Amino acid sequence: MITPPPPFEQPVYVTRPLLPPLEAFAQALQPVWASGWLTNAGAVQQSLEARLTTLLGAPHLSLYGNGTLALVVGLKALGLQPGQGEVITTPFTFPATVHALHWCGLTPVFADIDPHTLCLSPEAVRQRIGPRTVGILGVHVYGQPCDVVALEALAQRHHLALAYDGAHAFGTTAQGRPVAQWGDATMYSFHATKLFHTAEGGALALRSAAHHRQAELLRNFGIVNEDTVALPGINAKLNEIQAALGHVVLDQLGPERERRAAIRRRYAQGLAGVPGVSLLTLPEGVEDSLQYLVMRVHAGAAGLSRDELHARLKRYNIITRRYFYPLCSDYPFYRHLTGARPEELPVARQVAAEVLSLPLHGGLSDACVDRITQAIAYELAQPAARGAAA
Ligand SMILES: *Cc1c(COP(=O)(O)O)cnc(C)c1O
Repeated sequence: MITPPPPFEQPVYVTRPLLPPLEAFAQALQPVWASGWLTNAGAVQQSLEARLTTLLGAPHLSLYGNGTLALVVGLKALGLQPGQGEVITTPFTFPATVHALHWCGLTPVFADIDPHTLCLSPEAVRQRIGPRTVGILGVHVYGQPCDVVALEALAQRHHLALAYDGAHAFGTTAQGRPVAQWGDATMYSFHATKLFHTAEGGALALRSAAHHRQAELLRNFGIVNEDTVALPGINAKLNEIQAALGHVVLDQLGPERERRAAIRRRYAQGLAGVPGVSLLTLPEGVEDSLQYLVMRVHAGAAGLSRDELHARLKRYNIITRRYFYPLCSDYPFYRHLTGARPEELPVARQVAAEVLSLPLHGGLSDACVDRITQAIAYELAQPAARGAAA
């Protein structure tokens, strides 16, 4: 007989930012204080850029104040002009993906996702390509890579720009290569909730040196030198203080990833045999970002909807998140767009109703994980719930 675990005294959130020892951060700030140089292509930002270029295997990479701005600048750097056309993207993502298209004056067009990768389905994309299509914007959702080979083939055949939102894909590889080497542009987010972070921050990896030069201009008001402003850029720079934080967070990433991998294995053991739920697993050969732990609740077999479980876990102070619900195509201001009608997105619709992100961060103890899986198992075993769902 399963018994319910006691509620947590403090809320347990899906993530907690990786905080290095304060002394390490203070030490990393010393050169910044010594130089008095706080931003504008400072030495610390440049050294972090170099470190991440190597680590992420990017052909070219620069740092940004946040991932959203990196994506906006990336789309512009690829030459996609406002009012120019449509970009095919996924509805199953964080709002920023689609908002970035909007801020670039591009028209988002939605295509359904693949039931296994939960990323854009290349076949669905193919069906949406029309005379106004200028690009494809995929999302490596939960750090699971898109079908990069099929999307590349489509982009080449139809002369489309191919960009990726890789906000979850720090360290992800596809076909044995880092995701930064696929597509024309890949954005990373270094927000505090992401695996690697600079509190706020982001990066843009670009395939071509020309696009990279363009992006660097756009990032800093279009300023070339004292005499010349080449284009109407924006301020999207990362400052020295955040870059210093990035260095010390990067130093801690190895142990954090190991701990997260162990936590994920423990969840898998704890939830094995619990009916109606399954953990998302990555395909063979995919190097994972360990950013999220996603469970799917199959309402029929579970006897409980995802929303009901989400609400019940709150009573234990377990704060799970329904990433990514609602679909971007359901936002009132995107509902009118091509491909946004619910019946055109059957897979995305079903998946968005089933996913639940569970707490995953290095600070979780084994005992904590066991209490969470116990709470899930207990709630799913409640006969009243089964009756209600029947
Ligand atoms: C976090 C996130 C973003 C936004 O990144 P910021 O650095 O917060 O601007 C964009 N897309 C996805 C998929 C994200 O998860």
